[in-house]
Amino acid sequence: MSVMKNESRMDENKECPLLFLNPVFKEMIWGGRRLADQFGYEIPGDDTGECWGISAHPNGDDEIRDGIYAGKKLSELWDTHRELFGDLEGDRFPLLIKIIDAKDNLSIQVHPDDAYAAKYENGSFGKTECWYILDCPEDAELVVGHHAKTREELSSMIYGGQWDALIRKIPIQKGDFIQIDPGTVHAITTGCMILETQQNSDITYRVYDYDRLTNGKPRELHVEKSIDVITVPAKSVDDSVKHYANLPENQWNELITCPYYSVFKLNVKGSFEKEQNDPFLNISILDGSGTLNGQPVKKGDHLIVPAGYGTMKFEGDLELIASTVAR
Ligand code: ZN
Repeated sequence: MSVMKNESRMDENKECPLLFLNPVFKEMIWGGRRLADQFGYEIPGDDTGECWGISAHPNGDDEIRDGIYAGKKLSELWDTHRELFGDLEGDRFPLLIKIIDAKDNLSIQVHPDDAYAAKYENGSFGKTECWYILDCPEDAELVVGHHAKTREELSSMIYGGQWDALIRKIPIQKGDFIQIDPGTVHAITTGCMILETQQNSDITYRVYDYDRLTNGKPRELHVEKSIDVITVPAKSVDDSVKHYANLPENQWNELITCPYYSVFKLNVKGSFEKEQNDPFLNISILDGSGTLNGQPVKKGDHLIVPAGYGTMKFEGDLELIASTVAR
């Protein structure tokens, strides 16, 4: 009798486990090998561009790696065990976390906001995203914003192919952080590796793709929708890039809070404790190894700490990015 009672108590504890995910990988025209070489992932090919580390999106729905929910899709847990996510409302898990390896330039693109996407993209979310720069070449520049002063000028520069005059390039280095609001023209460039935190959406309008061909054909462009949604004039550079390479150790550093998410950076040296008070907390381990409440965690792991988990005790040498819905 007492044995059974103990077992049932153990099961209750297991109702609130750390949710480690098996990422989905995406081969891309601009992808490479660093997700294998630097993160140790088993990648599908030498043109792997994206690791969807925490995703419940139908185009790449992660499975839970182990424990009582092993093999279940994240979308299924969201639908059937909403208590793990603090009983949040909403028909889909709100965030999507990716690691991106750009061996080549990504297309120059822009995302719609919620209102435009709901109207023109079958009720999809819009897309606000942000980037933490994991690695980049010396003198790297990203495309963030543009130089057109009016929508007419924007339109004529796009249709006239005046890309050098139109797109704004900004210098970046490792540890920089960039918020990309809907309407921002943007592109990740050759050699950059980033961790992206974004709304759970896959709606991208491609403005320009460097005239590249995939299987002999150019990828589809969405010029008219792009001109509809691009913010004119663009937000200033100073409002776009923050430098977070040397954040203090053992401190919960907030990088941003916007209407969709809050993003944090933590560098653990030795040990660090924090209460998990959010509806859920996404964690991606960027470097190092250690434990979280005794469970091994290492570079490349992606996990969700569910609602009501209690105190998180990190030990070891760890660098991580965490995120949750905005409060
Ligand atoms: Zn984007």
